[in-house]
Amino acid sequence: MLGNTPMMQQYQQIKRQYPDTLLFFRLGDFYEMFGPDATLAAKELEITLTGREAGLEERIPMCGVPYHAVDTYLARLIQKGYKVAICEQTEDPRTAKGIVKREVIRVVTPGTSLDGQLFTEEGNNYLAAVCLEEGTWGLAFTDFSTGEFRVTDFIGANAQAALRDELSRINPAEILIRAASAETVRPLAKGAVLTSLEEDIFSYRQARTLLAGHFQADSPESRLPAEAKAAVCSAGAILYYLQETQKAPPQQIRQLKMYQAESFLMIDAVTFRNLEITRTLRANEKKGSLLEIMDKTRTAAGSRLLKTWLQRPLTDRSALEERHQAVEVLLQHWSLRQGLRKSLDEVYDMERLTTRILYKRALPRELLALRNSLSVLPEIKSILSNLLNSVYLSGLTSELDTLEDIRALLERAVCDEAPPNLNSGNIIKAGFHEEVDRLRTAGQNGKKWIAALEASEKEKTGIKSLKVGFNKVFGYYFEVTRANLALVPEYFQRKQTLANGERYVTEELLRLENEVLGAEEKLLALEAEIYDSLLTEVGSFRDRIQKTTQVLSQLDVLQSLAELAAKNNYVRPQLLEKEKNILEFKGLRHPVVERLLDSHSFIPNDLEIATEVILSIITGPNMGGKSTFCRSVALAVIMAQAGSFVPAEQAVISLRDRVFARVGASDDLGSGQSTFMVEMNEVANILRQATPHSLVILDEVGRGTSTYDGLSMAWAVSEYLVLRQKAKTLFATHYHELTQLEENIPGIRNLSAAVREKGEQIIFLHKIIDGPADKSYGIQVGRLAGLPAEVIERAHAVLRDIEAEHLGRTIVPTGQPAAAAETAPAQTSFLTEQEEEVLGRLSALDLNSITPLEALNILAGLKKMIK
Ligand code: ATP
Repeated sequence: MLGNTPMMQQYQQIKRQYPDTLLFFRLGDFYEMFGPDATLAAKELEITLTGREAGLEERIPMCGVPYHAVDTYLARLIQKGYKVAICEQTEDPRTAKGIVKREVIRVVTPGTSLDGQLFTEEGNNYLAAVCLEEGTWGLAFTDFSTGEFRVTDFIGANAQAALRDELSRINPAEILIRAASAETVRPLAKGAVLTSLEEDIFSYRQARTLLAGHFQADSPESRLPAEAKAAVCSAGAILYYLQETQKAPPQQIRQLKMYQAESFLMIDAVTFRNLEITRTLRANEKKGSLLEIMDKTRTAAGSRLLKTWLQRPLTDRSALEERHQAVEVLLQHWSLRQGLRKSLDEVYDMERLTTRILYKRALPRELLALRNSLSVLPEIKSILSNLLNSVYLSGLTSELDTLEDIRALLERAVCDEAPPNLNSGNIIKAGFHEEVDRLRTAGQNGKKWIAALEASEKEKTGIKSLKVGFNKVFGYYFEVTRANLALVPEYFQRKQTLANGERYVTEELLRLENEVLGAEEKLLALEAEIYDSLLTEVGSFRDRIQKTTQVLSQLDVLQSLAELAAKNNYVRPQLLEKEKNILEFKGLRHPVVERLLDSHSFIPNDLEIATEVILSIITGPNMGGKSTFCRSVALAVIMAQAGSFVPAEQAVISLRDRVFARVGASDDLGSGQSTFMVEMNEVANILRQATPHSLVILDEVGRGTSTYDGLSMAWAVSEYLVLRQKAKTLFATHYHELTQLEENIPGIRNLSAAVREKGEQIIFLHKIIDGPADKSYGIQVGRLAGLPAEVIERAHAVLRDIEAEHLGRTIVPTGQPAAAAETAPAQTSFLTEQEEEVLGRLSALDLNSITPLEALNILAGLKKMIK
């Protein structure tokens, strides 16, 4: 119980409806918090905790923030994962009888905030919902500030891992869940705030009703397939939550897109992190990532879209050819591209602005920013009309609505010097509204008349220093200094005494004051009203504005890719269907490392992986450039499939379906896993999921355990990848023994990072050449690193002993006669007995002599055998 005064009762009644939020309770010019909310907020916001009489013996804790600075405080609380319910006075306190009515007008949460300060410039701020229905995980997510809304689902044995990967890609700020699934979802969604909702909010029936109500009853959105039950339930939860927190339907959400993660190039969370695509491994920031190098966009929406393209590269060749062709055309037209970049510079974040307009949160200057953004559209359209020979660009040109009517409306309606806030008027431009003009003139004339009155009174009274002043408490007054008091006439009525004079009013001054102040007050109210309907009117064009924004962001990404290719000398990759299974690069560079080195000091490399080559084993010294090389191959594939040109002189890429990169060793102590366990988990994941059309990068496997265990694991993994999975693999390793595999298993070949020895010194050439490295250089690298000479000497001696002991022993690859296998790891047969049997029966089948029905029955039988 926080108190029994009527106001505190009102507070408690409202607070009961929002138990898991901090309640910002509007009192005059402040939002106040009471009781436990106050104690918590005072600590989190570092503001003073005071107390308030509440009709009880003890004062209750209280703290407050001024309403005009509320956004800053909100941002801080939301970033810390709190939710805040904003409770406003919903009637005028001057006319209210008894306690002023108050209501929560919106709840701000990490996933639904519209305040600019909360967003990183280029990032999306996602609200997601997940639920498990009949063994299928559904995922829906929206960026409330832009209106993007997508759903998908995950079925089968890998569903949970796939959901985790997708959540890591989206990186939502907040996830809606059923209370019962908190323990399952928490480890899948690191860093997000989990909001538990009641069971029935995820009910299928309710979700269907909400979807049908929000989107038109017969739209594709409301016809999501019945089997996508989990996805539908998640989407329903999102719509429900937005309605509940915003107290209004989310009008900016116009489309719901269903997608399947497999239709994109799949990059799991580990790979995405390891390849430092959008963030670096160490500092976890954009600086130093592939995205940072690639981002030459000029608009916030473009930057967000580029990130999405990198997160979801395509596997569809014709769509990619269209992207590449558009980039090529933009690359060829330097001056048109520069013109485009210049125009895009003027484009404000229209996606987010539209949402702010719809929620009536946009300030006058933001409308001016929208107007300026729109004013460059005709120029952009005319540039585009000169860029021929690209299907993609022509499509964008015809879709680009230049929105001239909306620009003209804003031009006419909003003052060019509109103030930063809504309270000081001067928003509506002269000529837009008759009554505004009339009141403004009345106000201005009144001020002129007051100035004239000042002059005439000076003359009449003979008080030379007489002047008219104004303050909020007393209004207009004449001020007379002490020396002139004797000259004050009788019709001056005294209002206030000052230390060095007196203030007076006259009948005439009061009449004029009425005129001026009345007009100003009316003007303010009228301007606010017109501004509100202006927002409604502009908001009604949301579909057209959103469509144009989408065109602009694609255009921005394409010009960014062209600019990148031009600046860094990238080449258009030649794309082949995945079945061709070829990867060829000439002069390949690592896009990030080459930028870090002095110009021209990066050594480009070539790679030719023909159809039949599956595993390339890369040996060579530490610091030789093996990792850099492997990563540059993976990055080039991802860039190409995102629509970008690649850092090479020539590139031929058979499209990949998945990319895996396991690099280095890292503990994941947070999840209770040791270095080696993390490594094995990652390898297991690759062996489960890679296909013959995948690209696998293994940068060292088996280093986290004893040498023999590690080598045996690396050996077995290599064989499995070649013989069983046939995934194109680049394996950088220090296990020299692996180079023996080439001789015995087709599809394996050796590469190495070249070095030149100069006496005891070694020089890294950073050139990848055919054939295995002749030896390891670990001890030389140790010397380079400055280890004491004594340690280096001793290491040489120990190495000599070990090598003498193992001289001549070889490991027998799988499938080879075991006679020579003195120290070989036990041989593995990759097929079980049943599988062998199935293969036998399959090869004995005479397909010409059986009917389709028989074939089906045989298939069913074979399937049963291997289940
Ligand atoms: P380790 O076996 O210790 O992991 P590594 O062979 O994988 O070493 P990298 O990590 O790829 O070696 O490269 C080491 C450093 O060499 C890089 O940080 C980079 O500065 C430089 N380097 C790598 N490749 C090149 C190249 N092609 N041209 C110029 N410098 C390069």
